[in-house]
Amino acid sequence: MFTTLRTRLWLSYALVVSAALAVVAAVFFIYLVQNPSTYRQASAKLTSVASTMLENEKAWANLPKDTLQAQLERFSTTIGTRMVVFNPDQQVIADSQQAEASPLQMPSFPRLRAAAVLRDTAGNYWLYVIQPLKNGRWLLVAVPRPQVPILSILTDELVLPIAGAGIVALILSLLIAYWLAGWVGKPLQEIVSASRQMPSRITQPLVPHGPREVQELTRAFNEMNHRVQVSQKSQRDFVANVSHELKTPLTSVQGFAQALLDGTAATAEARQQAASVIYDEAGRMHRLVLDLLDLARLDAGTADLKRSPVDLAALLNHISEKFMPQARAARVLITVEAQNLPLVTGDADRLAQVFTNLVDNALKYTPTGGQIRLRAARSGPEVWVEVRDTGSGIAPEALSHIFDRFYQADTARSGGKKHGAGLGLTIAKEILQAHGGTISVRSAPGYGSEFTVRLPVILPTDTTAITRKK
Ligand code: ADP
Repeated sequence: MFTTLRTRLWLSYALVVSAALAVVAAVFFIYLVQNPSTYRQASAKLTSVASTMLENEKAWANLPKDTLQAQLERFSTTIGTRMVVFNPDQQVIADSQQAEASPLQMPSFPRLRAAAVLRDTAGNYWLYVIQPLKNGRWLLVAVPRPQVPILSILTDELVLPIAGAGIVALILSLLIAYWLAGWVGKPLQEIVSASRQMPSRITQPLVPHGPREVQELTRAFNEMNHRVQVSQKSQRDFVANVSHELKTPLTSVQGFAQALLDGTAATAEARQQAASVIYDEAGRMHRLVLDLLDLARLDAGTADLKRSPVDLAALLNHISEKFMPQARAARVLITVEAQNLPLVTGDADRLAQVFTNLVDNALKYTPTGGQIRLRAARSGPEVWVEVRDTGSGIAPEALSHIFDRFYQADTARSGGKKHGAGLGLTIAKEILQAHGGTISVRSAPGYGSEFTVRLPVILPTDTTAITRKK
């Protein structure tokens, strides 16, 4: 019971409002006990009597003591209040009820407490009003404090309007508190039910509303939900792509093995061809599996990167030599421009894998008579390496996807022997990221492609050259 945030919020607001109203009611009650309506009426009468007396001050205030006494007694009989005049030394000069009542002393601080309750020497309470006269004397007008039964407070004329206002305020504030609790609680509830539906492909982004913090939570939830969906999609795509990439070579292997088994490949030449296809396709699957393993290790951050100073110029020259026979056969020119390069720290084999992939791609997509240029130089805290070819180039719509897993531009898919698994650039990117580097591409169909790799230069004091993926 009362465990939901919404109810608790509402209850808290309700408690705060009720406590505030209870304090107001208590203060009001104390005020009424101390100033019931009979007191207030008597005080009003005393104030009006005192001001009338002051208006006619000239007529009586300066009278000698005996005459003043007689005069006050007359006023007192007519008006029905006790009147006392004190001299500046607070001594009684005249008291209209000198005979009937016990003496009254002048109240202390009369200027501050011009009206309140006073006790006479016999202990009786009087309501009074005291005012200074022009001649330095003081006029005190008093009536005995009336007895007020405590329950009569309830019939006080102030009780009804104030209690009414209190009830209206309570109802209004409870309604506002209910709205406030809903304002905070509803979006949270929406996040909860959306979380329960996860993972679901149809989960729509939630519309942020409520307080700013809750809106931020909703936005963060939407972002998280989006990332989960993207990750799920990439997992599904991954499985679909792997199956697709394995299906074609497996079908070939199965077909040619069948031909060998049932004797369809009857001649020695046909058997040789079947065996060669099986060998090639098995090799392709082997390479795919190795690539997948590589990717999984790089993804998990468990790829074993051996850090050592790497001479990039030597590495690029070595790769160009490695591809030279292939390039000569395709009549493509490979050149390397890399001098005075600083050392970078990294895994030489992995970096060689990156540039091998890039040069291999360049060779695949560069027609006879083309050129592949490897250039490297230092720029501030990094070294850049450019692999530029004069090949087919990459269509603008494909450009943003070529680093995605299994992505192959359509031309590549239809490219027969050129067909890879679409993992080469992804692996290159992952390896470079593990080295704290980047790779980018500029390309236009018909003009060739330019891949730029950037790697941080190792400064003499730097011991953590490779930012390894955690
Ligand atoms: P693949 O194994 O298919 O070469 P990659 O990841 O290495 O996979 O490359 C992805 C896609 O990028 C290729 O299918 C190709 O369409 C495109 N690509 C890569 N390098 C080049 C290049 N030098 N020239 C033209 N297209 C390229």
